[in-house]
Amino acid sequence: MIRQNLFILGSTGSIGVSTLDVVARHPERFAVYALSAHSRIEQLAEQAYVTQARVVIMPDDAARARFIAVWPCGQALPEVRLGAQALADTAADPLVDTVMAAIVGAAGLPGALAAAQAGKRVLLANKEALVAAGSLFMQAVRDSGAELLPIDSEHNAIFQCMPHPNSHASKTGLPAAGVRRLLLTASGGPFRQTALDLLDAVTPDQACAHPNWRMGRKISVDSATMLNKGLEVIEAHWLFSMPLDRIKVVIHPQSMVHSMVEYEDGSILAQLGQPDMRTPIAYGLGFPERINSGVGLMELSRLGRLDFEEPDLNRFPCLRLSFDALNDGQAACIALNAANEIAVDGFLKGRIRYTQIPDIIEHCLDDSTAHMTSHPGSLEDILALDARTRRVATQFCLASI
Ligand code: NAD
Ligand code: MG
Repeated sequence: MIRQNLFILGSTGSIGVSTLDVVARHPERFAVYALSAHSRIEQLAEQAYVTQARVVIMPDDAARARFIAVWPCGQALPEVRLGAQALADTAADPLVDTVMAAIVGAAGLPGALAAAQAGKRVLLANKEALVAAGSLFMQAVRDSGAELLPIDSEHNAIFQCMPHPNSHASKTGLPAAGVRRLLLTASGGPFRQTALDLLDAVTPDQACAHPNWRMGRKISVDSATMLNKGLEVIEAHWLFSMPLDRIKVVIHPQSMVHSMVEYEDGSILAQLGQPDMRTPIAYGLGFPERINSGVGLMELSRLGRLDFEEPDLNRFPCLRLSFDALNDGQAACIALNAANEIAVDGFLKGRIRYTQIPDIIEHCLDDSTAHMTSHPGSLEDILALDARTRRVATQFCLASI
């Protein structure tokens, strides 16, 4: 068997660590070519040592010095590459077959896009890339013939429930024939039933205490506000060429049904599994074969019941704002995502309250409508609008303290 050479962007994160866990179960299938991290450089060194990665990418000289300081004496150092450009260059490196895009936030866009442009197998966890640059990204996939496999659990579930992969929108640009709607499930997060007047005072740790999933802190807060589901609706729109009115969000507190596809004949196909990202990751790594992910048996009889309910847009204003942004177009989606990244960072650092997150996003969406002059078509346009929104959001945060 020829081994796939992997590049894991964001290997020290929650998805990165789960990916390495699956990879370690299949040494005959996968070789780790490159790993990247932005912080936790000691963890990166450990990962690179264990996997014998040939290349490691980190932000700057200070990180390199830390990496070298902890590298075991007498062992050959991997090649160290520095900076954001090295992420994109390595994603396009001819020696790389498969790229796991698992950096958090719009910072992951250039690397994911470079992988798509270079025609790689792209395992896409970084949903923010599609939210900010859906049109550009999907066009790059189609032009290069890249193989795009969604890793976000909902989109992975939908992908699994879709008709044959050749009819997939990443190849045709059209919705798959016979599909009526996509049903995107959401847990509702830790505040699904919290009294609304208590939300003002919730802490970052409470917001990150997701009832079912263990994830990075940014996506955990996004799950609490349900902005995560909003980003996922936009992600589904691009991945499956589906209009907003054919994507339905349904709250499913047990997080066992990861999403569903409803067909014209009334059939609904669902994908079930434990809330463990190793399942969609193994699906993407092994595709089209099924490989062991390390996830144990799911005993349906112990589950007892599966509940479904409508999301309450008063409780989750970020979901409404996401629908507005998708209706308004790409500039609004870039603003939604960038404003949210600043707001969540401010909340995690204790600078703003949880309930201010939607205020900041709304302010930035209004600003983007007022100041947008042209459609952001290129990566440079997208990054410029992203940077502008971050400045507007930061000023608004400072003014609200
Ligand atoms: P995380 O915070 O645990 O890890 C993020 C990784 O990105 C780390 O390796 C970090 O070093 C790197 N990184 C952060 N900022 C960077 C920057 N500016 N430049 C380069 N690298 C940077 O995040 P996560 O929970 O693993 O999520 C990663 C992505 O996967 C996100 O887009 C998230 O929405 C998506 N996702 C995560 C889960 C999950 O269960 N964690 C599920 C679905 C989708
Ligand atoms: Mg998800």
